[in-house]
Amino acid sequence: MVNNKIKAAEENLLPVYNRFPIALDHGEGMYLYDTDGKEYLDFAAGFAVSGLGYGNQELNDALKAQIDKLYHTSNLYYHENCGIAARELNRISGMDRIFFTNSGGEAIEGALKAARKYAYTKKNGRYEFIAMENSFHGRTFGAVSVTGHDSYREPFEPLVPGVHFAKFNDLDSVKALVNDKTCAIILEPLQGEGGINLAEQSFMEGIRKICDENDILMICDEVQCGMGRTGTMFAWQGFGVKPDIMAMAKGIGNGIPVGAFAMKEEVAEYSLKPGDHGSTYAGNPLACAAVRKVIEIFEKEDILGHVNKVAPYLTKKLDELVAETDCVTKRKGKGLMQGIVVTKPLKEVNAKAVEEGLLIIQAEGNVIRFVPPLIVEEKHIDQMIEKMKKVLA
Ligand SMILES: *Cc1c(COP(=O)(O)O)cnc(C)c1O
Repeated sequence: MVNNKIKAAEENLLPVYNRFPIALDHGEGMYLYDTDGKEYLDFAAGFAVSGLGYGNQELNDALKAQIDKLYHTSNLYYHENCGIAARELNRISGMDRIFFTNSGGEAIEGALKAARKYAYTKKNGRYEFIAMENSFHGRTFGAVSVTGHDSYREPFEPLVPGVHFAKFNDLDSVKALVNDKTCAIILEPLQGEGGINLAEQSFMEGIRKICDENDILMICDEVQCGMGRTGTMFAWQGFGVKPDIMAMAKGIGNGIPVGAFAMKEEVAEYSLKPGDHGSTYAGNPLACAAVRKVIEIFEKEDILGHVNKVAPYLTKKLDELVAETDCVTKRKGKGLMQGIVVTKPLKEVNAKAVEEGLLIIQAEGNVIRFVPPLIVEEKHIDQMIEKMKKVLA
């Protein structure tokens, strides 16, 4: 139902999003409710963001308390949460140095700049990037420059020079692009927008080896696949292949706008120094309170353990759906970041899902993506499958 709230948005916002004609009002656990009171089972989590779902009282209380205390300082000063949030993020990510950002795109911008500065300090003459086809790294100029979709890049060319695209999971295509100007190789261990494509173990290991042998930096974009989604805190940990720099966002603040890029001490030593990078808002007391509390809740409630317990059930149910449904040809992905390839037009599938009270997202390659809040239980998966059967009938 198009109501007046939507009308004002349609008339006043730049029309860059294909929004559904619903206005969301509030949420509780796995469910969202629109302004007409209609309930939606959420398997989108606002693009894999709301890992703890909606209305988590402990998180909400922490955020409210922080708002009453202080929510902006600028980075001229320290505040209590910035060090703790950074320390905790380093602990769970295995990195040594953090820079907070306001978004995933900014985390990628920073990661690229950090890599360039590393090469600059080392005077090794390296400035080029190798990125992957079908990748998605965000919409800012640097991020879009390494995004492997022509349609995302073309209208904004010329972009950052010296970016080359290799085939995902094809190590030879990466090797063919490596030269003495290669500064960094950037990839998502599990591609999200590009169609839920999981890196192969040998691909991750092969890239690590190329980087080690040539003083090239390996950058993992964990913006979507990080923060518990694949059953490890960050997806690279599932491969045991540690990047030199990583980008995070989406899940780390459960919806409070916050991202980060992080790096090993050996990289930080040669990388960004005072004056090289900055942000007025980033890492503010509210954002850092969110990160700090989200990590605390993740550990207290063993969200990772839960993901690993419930994900096999999602896999089994989606496999059954593939077997039983003519227009579903394949299941893809890992943990609570999975997708199915459908032969029906996605627009139709999406619209029907909304009608059925189910929120899903599409991805490249006619993929329907399931990235629910990580608190999803088997009963929600059953409910989702029932709705999907109606949607795909
Ligand atoms: C969403 C996303 C980004 C961009 O994050 P924003 O917060 O939208 O700027 C970057 N990389 C990946 C893998 C993403 O999924």
